[in-house]
Amino acid sequence: MEIINRRPRMMSLARKLRRENKTVGFVPTMGALHEGHLSLVEEARRMCDVVIVSIFVNPAQFNEKDDFQSYPRDLTADAARLTEFQVDYIFAPDADEIYGENFSTYVYVENLTDTLEGASRPGHFRGVATVVTILLNTIRPDFAFFGQKDAQQAVVIKRMVEDLGFETEIVVLPIVREESGLAMSSRNALLGDEERQKASIIYKGLKAAKIAAKEGERNPERLSEIVRETIETEPLANIDYIAVVDNETLEPVEKIGENAVLIAVAVSFGKVRLIDNTILNRKQ
Ligand code: AMP
Repeated sequence: MEIINRRPRMMSLARKLRRENKTVGFVPTMGALHEGHLSLVEEARRMCDVVIVSIFVNPAQFNEKDDFQSYPRDLTADAARLTEFQVDYIFAPDADEIYGENFSTYVYVENLTDTLEGASRPGHFRGVATVVTILLNTIRPDFAFFGQKDAQQAVVIKRMVEDLGFETEIVVLPIVREESGLAMSSRNALLGDEERQKASIIYKGLKAAKIAAKEGERNPERLSEIVRETIETEPLANIDYIAVVDNETLEPVEKIGENAVLIAVAVSFGKVRLIDNTILNRKQ
């Protein structure tokens, strides 16, 4: 496994792989790797000849300086995990390598990015869409792997890739959870022991709504209340939003019908903000 820091090196290597007709799988991450990331790596390994993982804590997608600074980083441990998982290359550029002097070009995906995470974190998706564009242009992978954990991100990236005609197929994989039900996240490392244990209430709320929907509840507001009532039983939990939206347009739904519906939540425990979601009516 080679760790690549420079963009020209990454580009020329990617060009060589294409000439050799290798299928390239790419997993973009911000590091502090956990089983959620590794599930993406495993699928990439299964599907592709060559696996490239990027580790880049992207300053452009953080709307709060503190959050960016406290974001966990551990390249040594990450590289060891990725060696175990037979990754071929890590692309770990620093910020200057991605955002050169006089950098001025950003990608803005309309409609999908002003709600949910976009409403709570202004500029977040502009940063995400821009860095993913740069990474896809640098590597030009056949497949790029994303987690359902960041549901809105997956919808935004799929839209962008279709709109801008990238030749990469986006693969979205299920949420990996801790035993308690808490969705795995690099930010979980910032929770105290008690908070981490209590944070499983988020999943319990989502599960309660899912069960209610299965039993026939069709009213999105009622489903949202069920999530809220469950999460509010935990005094340490501070709800930012609970949204029940169409999983493609991210518009609120009036009634749960046939289409896939996303229930997405953001909840803080102390200073740590967590997101999670579940999908109703997913057609397998
Ligand atoms: P991040 O390092 O947080 O930017 O995440 C990198 C990728 O891993 C994103 O596509 C995430 O959606 C995905 N990911 C993060 N946590 C999980 C999880 N618990 N299960 C599945 N995928 C995840």
